[in-house]
Amino acid sequence: MGVPIPERELICCKCNVPLEKISSNFEYMGVSFSNDVDACPNCGQVFIPYELVIGQMAETEVQLEDK
Ligand SMILES: [Zn+2]
Repeated sequence: MGVPIPERELICCKCNVPLEKISSNFEYMGVSFSNDVDACPNCGQVFIPYELVIGQMAETEVQLEDK
């Protein structure tokens, strides 16, 4: 109930620099997402939190069932 998820600072394992939040569109398993994701400002590697994908997939399934 309104408990914020603590932000974890992620570090790019290649460049060793902190990741920056970017607004991004990406596709996973044929489903397009639009969300803030962490990306490395140096090499552009994007890290997608597992929970985000699962949450979006669950929402998508609900929408599919709905129609
Ligand atoms: Zn990097």
